[in-house]
Amino acid sequence: MTSQAEAPAETGAQYTSVLPGDRVVARTHGAVLVVDAPAVGASAEVAALSTALAAQGDPAPALRAAPGPPFAVVTGSGSSVHALLRGAPDTLADRALTVAVFESATAAEPRLVLRAEAEFVERVAPLPRGAVVTVTVGPPPPPGPVCGPTALHLLRGSVPGAGAVLWSDDSLRPQGEVETDVFAADAPTNEEPTGASPLFAATEYDVEVPAEGAAPAAGPLVEGRRCAFGHLNAPRAGYCTRCGALVDRRAPLETGPRPPLGLLVADDGSAFVVENDMLIGRDPVDQVSRRGGRSFDGAGRLHPVVLQDRTGALSRAHLELRIDGWQLLAVDVGSANGTWVRPPGAVAPLRLPVGRPVPLATGSDIHLGGRILQLQDVATA
Ligand SMILES: [Zn+2]
Repeated sequence: MTSQAEAPAETGAQYTSVLPGDRVVARTHGAVLVVDAPAVGASAEVAALSTALAAQGDPAPALRAAPGPPFAVVTGSGSSVHALLRGAPDTLADRALTVAVFESATAAEPRLVLRAEAEFVERVAPLPRGAVVTVTVGPPPPPGPVCGPTALHLLRGSVPGAGAVLWSDDSLRPQGEVETDVFAADAPTNEEPTGASPLFAATEYDVEVPAEGAAPAAGPLVEGRRCAFGHLNAPRAGYCTRCGALVDRRAPLETGPRPPLGLLVADDGSAFVVENDMLIGRDPVDQVSRRGGRSFDGAGRLHPVVLQDRTGALSRAHLELRIDGWQLLAVDVGSANGTWVRPPGAVAPLRLPVGRPVPLATGSDIHLGGRILQLQDVATA
């Protein structure tokens, strides 16, 4: 497989974009590897598979013997695609690792689909010129609308993701802006706790939330209703986001300093309290000081949030989070590789339109560069 990686004719895996998600996507030793294991905590399994790939000659025997979670290894070599798959017993078809070959980036249906079975399988299939290969946990998305080639160009290393898309020169074409009109215009109430991804459920974080009684900063005043314990909540909230108590929606509205609207929890366990507008990126400090540290509407403060990113796909200033009353808005500020948001309960992540604020619901996953953030309630267990 190493010889394929070094061959100049390699086209199938020339560009690899990563679909947002919380499994493991890696590019190593000329192959694209997708492992159906949580992105946090699966490093030993990924390392074992990577070692198997590094072996001289045919990696199949070492991969076959590698213990651990389901995986798919795919290499493209000019005119053919080589797939090695292993599933797990009892995996439902819509959760099985799947390799699909699409005739082109605009094809709606794949012309070949390989699904991982419990047994180790190896398959070589012809790769037509301009074809796109997807490797996903579950059924493949059509390559065009869901995952533009700019989503993330993974050169090497491993990142969290739901799968990978392998593009060749011939399959890359300029694409129009992706329309994302499916976000609800009015976003979050906190009626029900929404399914947090296992990635974030597994993280631990330690962050200081200002005590309710502490002297409020000179932040904006908002109108809302108090729970029995005096926490101010959005007018439409049914339950307190701080303590979970019922909020009586027939109670009169009160005005008070706005409490933190949530926690932004990163995939490495770090967390940020959402109480000011934030500019998130690899190096957003310049941009923030150019704006005098003022938020978008000038009424509040703008805080820089620095994220590390090994993939190089995170822009210096990538994403802005704006607070508008009780609503948190996400704005891609013109990042090079885009921002993808998966609202709670949604199957597929959606790309944020550049410069247009989109309401962000609690429980949403935000995928930017090689990093994932999740918006959570302030309340901690
Ligand atoms: Zn409360």
